Amino acid sequence: MSDTQADTGEVREIRINPIVPSESVLVATARSMRPKKAEELAPRDTRKHVETCPFCRGNEHKTPPPILTWPETGDWQIRMVENLYPVLGDDRAQSGFNFGLQQTIDGYGRHEVIIDHNEHGIAVHEMAEPHLAALFGVYQKRMRQLFESDERLKYVLVFKNFGPAAGASIPHTHSQVIAMPVVPENVDAEVKNSAAHYAKHHHCIFCALIDEALTFEATIYDRASGAVRRKINVGQYVVERGEKFIAIKPFASRYEWEVHILPLTHQADFLDVAEADFADLARVMRRTMARLDAVIGGAQYNFFLHSVPHDAGQAAYAPSYHWHLEICPRTSIPTGFELGSGLFVNTINPEQAAERLRAVSL
Ligand SMILES: [Zn+2]
Ligand SMILES: [Zn+2]
Ligand SMILES: [Zn+2]
Repeated sequence: MSDTQADTGEVREIRINPIVPSESVLVATARSMRPKKAEELAPRDTRKHVETCPFCRGNEHKTPPPILTWPETGDWQIRMVENLYPVLGDDRAQSGFNFGLQQTIDGYGRHEVIIDHNEHGIAVHEMAEPHLAALFGVYQKRMRQLFESDERLKYVLVFKNFGPAAGASIPHTHSQVIAMPVVPENVDAEVKNSAAHYAKHHHCIFCALIDEALTFEATIYDRASGAVRRKINVGQYVVERGEKFIAIKPFASRYEWEVHILPLTHQADFLDVAEADFADLARVMRRTMARLDAVIGGAQYNFFLHSVPHDAGQAAYAPSYHWHLEICPRTSIPTGFELGSGLFVNTINPEQAAERLRAVSL
């Protein structure tokens, strides 16, 4: 319990995202005022092998030829192929279109699928750490190849939808890579706002958040009554800490079980992660996912990698932007209130959520 509402366990406040203030979150934990309902999750597919699955071993002929595999020879563990239904493609030559208020940018880009594992329904926390480290290595290798292949590509988004609740259309565990000619708006907002913070305070806001999570301790009292208004404990937001990486529960979490993983020392570009560091990233990732899975009871989630865009501002943003992985488990359906207002509603106090995640014994 972390504030005056501790007596009743109820919290109702709007929390401002320190990096993107326009993305605020209403934390409303009292059951009576919960404006959304928990989602009845369709169970995820946990089978090891499915005869008809195009991503399962033995069905390699059902996918386009691999772009890359790991290991490079012998029996594959990770396999990357073109997406058969790409949202962006490189087959069109025409450029953008402008007429009055109608503007378009050509849907140029690439859309690829990484088959994360040869076992059909395996969850991330069930994968061996060296396998996960190799998977991060594949993400990095392909990002690099794509950026080098065409200078029109400004951003490479790596993400994963896991489970039907997270919109995964193919149940076999996989990630996706979308290379695009524009920087996604949410990344752009993070990049610009963190640059503004840097210009004012001369430090990276993400590094400052990590520092606060690891070192801040405070008790804030009510001026009139002297009652404790809020207590901030050291490590309150830390879910998992490795040698090089940390998993943090954001103060203004949009999703009940949202967790972010960041490098402990400043790094703007995921391409700069040393290969030797992927082992620690894999460890922090696997343990974080195991905690989420234990607390939620089978995590279905989206995760996405946010890294500095490769556009004209890349060098300028290097000191102020800090790459990270956002893990967003899906446990409820967005309501009209959320969709209409753009205000996310979180029904679990983030401090308590972090505490429950830390309490899981691994
Ligand atoms: Zn499969
Ligand atoms: Zn930083
Ligand atoms: Zn982000």
